[in-house]
Amino acid sequence: MKFFLDFMHQKVPRDRGDMPVYYRRALRTGEVLQAVYFLVCFFLYPLINHRWEWIPALFIAVTGGCLWALKTQKTRTNLILYALMCGGWVFWNVQHFGWNSGVQHFLTLLIVLVFFNIYDRPLYKIIWLILILAFRILLFYFSQQVPALYRMNTEANTVYQTVNTVAFFVMLAGMCIIFSTSIQDTERQLRLKNQTLYKEAGTDPLTGLPNRRAMIEQIEKYCSQNPDQPFSVAIADIDYFKQVNDTYGHNCGDYTLVRLTELFAEHAMGRYTVCRWGGEEFCFFMPGLNLDEAGVLMQDLNYAAEKMELKYDDCEFSITITIGVEEYDFASPLEELLDSADEKLYMGKNSGRNKVIV
Ligand code: GH3
Ligand code: MG
Ligand code: MG
Repeated sequence: MKFFLDFMHQKVPRDRGDMPVYYRRALRTGEVLQAVYFLVCFFLYPLINHRWEWIPALFIAVTGGCLWALKTQKTRTNLILYALMCGGWVFWNVQHFGWNSGVQHFLTLLIVLVFFNIYDRPLYKIIWLILILAFRILLFYFSQQVPALYRMNTEANTVYQTVNTVAFFVMLAGMCIIFSTSIQDTERQLRLKNQTLYKEAGTDPLTGLPNRRAMIEQIEKYCSQNPDQPFSVAIADIDYFKQVNDTYGHNCGDYTLVRLTELFAEHAMGRYTVCRWGGEEFCFFMPGLNLDEAGVLMQDLNYAAEKMELKYDDCEFSITITIGVEEYDFASPLEELLDSADEKLYMGKNSGRNKVIV
């Protein structure tokens, strides 16, 4: 009993955002096409036998029920209704027109749909498969034992079988095309989202600069692609930044960090990239520059920072930065290189600040 209840209640997630779009779209396409097919049958039946038009009309109503269940997120109910509808239609046709009516193909659609539902457990899918297979075999035996209630003439049978075969192929193709294009679509959206998330994860929200992780990745990539090229790194720290916060407020501190970032962007001119290393510390990566060249460049930046005029809420002030520079020795790990730049920065702090130590 518990197994049956599990089977009945197992659903794709309720949250609309989590619904597997490709499955819903494939189901909907299959069901809309099925309704169109029943409509065709509704107009075709008077040519076969005048008494039975109401049967396709009834199946149109059941298809409407399926679509309603799909709209209200009752995916399992939808699938069961769809199975009953397909099974019922196939049985009725075999009973009335015999095996030659060609409707038994519709059972294949059920198998396809069951396998499209990625949220179903493989066990349930296999149970569905066995049930559908058993139904088809029994139906065949039934058609062999019990003669059809109505004998269509050859022409009517040819037309009806052609309609059924075409309908089956159109439904199968429709569902598969929608399923595969929707899955590609979802995959593309996921890839784009991943890219955005990856970028956001490597970006400092206040300054928009890359963060420590992104910078390390960038340097490591450079090292692996240019193993024979020199490069230098520098770590800069704003002097007495706590006083800026304490005197003018935290927002002014933020403003200072943003202005400094703008200064870096103007000053870099492609010679270095910079990241926010932490709080009020920045790390510079200077590809192709040796220690002397990097030292000169950082000295120039040090002057530029000192000269930068800052104005926040009528308060005018300026800041200075201390920088430690180090060149790659083609041997030490990156971590040691950065530690060495950091040590030089603290040497600069201890020897009066506002200077560049190379
Ligand atoms: P030193 O010259 O020795 O570097 O002195 P300092 O005051 O700059 O150093 P300290 O490490 O004592 O203070 C750093 C301050 O930077 C403390 C912290 O509140 C501030 N800070 C770190 N990140 C941010 C930030 O994102 N915004 C603001 N406004 N302040 C920050
Ligand atoms: Mg500081
Ligand atoms: Mg600091």
